[in-house]
Amino acid sequence: MTGTIQMVELRGQYEKIKIDIDQAILNVIETSAFIQGPDVRNFERDLQQYLEVERVISCGNGTDALQIALMALDLKPGDEVIVPSFTYVATAEVIGLLGLTPVMIDVDPCTFNITAELIKPAISAKTKAIIPVHLFGQCTEMEAIVSIAKDNGIKIIEDTAQALGAVYTFGNGEKKRAGTIGDIGCTSFFPSKNLGCYGDGGALYTNNTELGDRLKMVANHGQRKKYYHEVLGVNSRLDTIQAAVLGVKLKHLDEYSESRNKVASYYDKHLNNISGLTIPARSAQSTHVFHQYTIKIADGRRNELQGYLKDKGIPSMIYYPLPLFEQEAYKNIGRCVGEMNTTKTLCEQVLSLPIHTELAEDTLDYITETIKSYFNG
Ligand SMILES: *Cc1c(COP(=O)(O)O)cnc(C)c1O
Repeated sequence: MTGTIQMVELRGQYEKIKIDIDQAILNVIETSAFIQGPDVRNFERDLQQYLEVERVISCGNGTDALQIALMALDLKPGDEVIVPSFTYVATAEVIGLLGLTPVMIDVDPCTFNITAELIKPAISAKTKAIIPVHLFGQCTEMEAIVSIAKDNGIKIIEDTAQALGAVYTFGNGEKKRAGTIGDIGCTSFFPSKNLGCYGDGGALYTNNTELGDRLKMVANHGQRKKYYHEVLGVNSRLDTIQAAVLGVKLKHLDEYSESRNKVASYYDKHLNNISGLTIPARSAQSTHVFHQYTIKIADGRRNELQGYLKDKGIPSMIYYPLPLFEQEAYKNIGRCVGEMNTTKTLCEQVLSLPIHTELAEDTLDYITETIKSYFNG
């Protein structure tokens, strides 16, 4: 085994596509089309084809995408938006910023995702939207969620920042990509995401072309026609250089998902028989793109294991250490529905192991043998 082990390895991935990436970036510089250059439109078109969706609107980052989605739905202060309590803060942050009320619900202990059953008791007369987060790379049970959203006139914004490329299969066999099932899908191209650029970037997608026009307008200062502003908007753009990078990398996304799945299968095979350690559950309805490979460590030993691994040169991360409802900023906004016991337990038990497209088998062998030695020692 050579070199230091990393959670994410962007350099090695770049080396393999260096010629195409360098050429794409150089082309933007040479044409000086830094803002809304042709690469932006081309990437939107390519992503639209990849996702098989009607419209793709690029924007500045994943958090902006979520905010733009909420703004386009024309919600009023006090309207409620249901979110998982076990997620990255961005999901709830934009709800609070817009004067809306985040209603936090617990998640399923196996998939880490919200379910239709958990959503039901959280629905009130003020509920206007749900933001399911396909956490760690696997779709939540969208068919059941779409059904209760329809029954209650609630919009769905899918947060696919960690699940771009995952495929969901409906009961009738129909397949759709994550983010193209609800009303609006949002994603992030943060460098460490499954499709990452070399800075910040994000996108929204929808099958509703009217809504697509509205999203584009909100992302562009609320204007359809230059200098004529219909609604309050924001300035959120994907840089042409980032679009050029993404155009190259999108061609490799399925191959990247495959590499991540190979790593996950290796971990599954070598870690599935350890008492006190639970490997991640696979949903029968969704493929997994393994943005994270997240194990659960029982008996209060998670932090000790993390320290043990660190001493052996193995990094690991805790996504996420504190539930949303225990965050200082969220104590006075929003409300919780339910006991939240799963979220609390997960915050104490989860540990994400290194996973990326460049992990070699000897490194994986070292990581899994070290974990075994902790439990056997
Ligand atoms: C990364 C992430 C975001 C935010 O994306 P940025 O591009 O960093 O703003 C939102 N939601 C989830 C679940 C994420 O993982």
